[in-house]
Amino acid sequence: MEQQNFAVINAGSSSLKFSLFAATPAGPVRRIRGQIAEINSAPIFSARIGTHSAEPDRLLGESYSGHHRCLDFLLAWLEQHAQVHAAGHRVVHGGLHFSQPVVLNTAIIKELETLIPLAPLHQPHNLQPIHALARLHPGLMQVACFDTAFHASKRKEAQQFPLPATLKDAGVRRYGFHGLSYEYIAMKLKEVDPALAPKRVVVAHLGNGASMCALHQGKAVDSTMGLTAADGLPMGTRSGSLDPGVVFFMAREMNMSLDTIEDILYRQSGLKGLSGLTHDMRLLEQSNDPQAHGAIDLFVYRIQQQFGALSASLGGIDGAVFTAGIGENSSLVRGKILKGLQWLGFELDDQANATHATCITTRQSNIPAYVIPTDEDLMIAHHVQQILSSR
Ligand code: ADP
Repeated sequence: MEQQNFAVINAGSSSLKFSLFAATPAGPVRRIRGQIAEINSAPIFSARIGTHSAEPDRLLGESYSGHHRCLDFLLAWLEQHAQVHAAGHRVVHGGLHFSQPVVLNTAIIKELETLIPLAPLHQPHNLQPIHALARLHPGLMQVACFDTAFHASKRKEAQQFPLPATLKDAGVRRYGFHGLSYEYIAMKLKEVDPALAPKRVVVAHLGNGASMCALHQGKAVDSTMGLTAADGLPMGTRSGSLDPGVVFFMAREMNMSLDTIEDILYRQSGLKGLSGLTHDMRLLEQSNDPQAHGAIDLFVYRIQQQFGALSASLGGIDGAVFTAGIGENSSLVRGKILKGLQWLGFELDDQANATHATCITTRQSNIPAYVIPTDEDLMIAHHVQQILSSR
């Protein structure tokens, strides 16, 4: 049978990351990865085939600005290397109806548009390449994989807000995000520590967006995010959980409009707001400014609190995993977190942590903590291959 190839597309506000996978009996194999940066101004294309740069970075220029032109270019470029049989997309919100990956059609795309208010920072950007591909290649199979889907297994109490039923019926529920990352970690943990994988594990996905998830039997039991990706931990620029009274205070006492409040809570808060400097953990770590270190300390404190809360959701904890930009790369943040969690049974191995070893706790530690790089696009690829092979 002819080998099937498919693209995975992960579209953000200013960049479009892509991979080309080949479906093989052993699972999807990534052949090409790359990105188009600055898609709204003067797009820059870069790609790697295997470990080699496919060609020097290419400035596409202003005439390629926008998703439609960029995808037209990308598909033509990919088709020079392999015939593309399908495209998989990361879509942040699947709402109430989509708890599994889905093959897209016009009606489903329309339904996904109605979820934009639930993820204003992400959903519109995720849907743009879907629209563009539907217009450019109407026959191409497109699959949406949702960040909320993995959380459909959460315990009932973890899916609800203590609000009147009318709001629940309107879809105001604790969904949870970064599900593709957690699903990937649950899959990978079976290789890294097969004995731990079915037990009670807390995963900390710490990137610009940050959340935590409690896993049991490799399934989500609870998570720190709720209706939108603004809940839970403080993030690069998002506040995370707040007393709702803060919003009333901003509106009534400070005369802020809803748009201003949204901008502050989504774009001016978190590490950026606390430090008054930047959302970027690398720069905060390098800074001598006490406010930068105060921001890191509050981030760490809230994560430690959630280790306690999620351990309670699980009725105990048997291990932890750190992932995403900060979780995979910041030995400072991981070290601070675990040093404050000795009471849960973690004993940090400073040397292993400093060198980003897979296991960063000592042999004597009651429970282990691991660093596992996430790969959401590979998770999407697994879903797309499964759908392709079932058709
Ligand atoms: P997202 O995918 O949510 O945009 P990432 O997972 O790429 O975010 O994580 C970005 C964060 O990871 C930034 O705060 C960045 O500073 C941090 N980060 C990346 N590398 C390092 C490092 N070596 N040390 C500390 N922080 C790092």
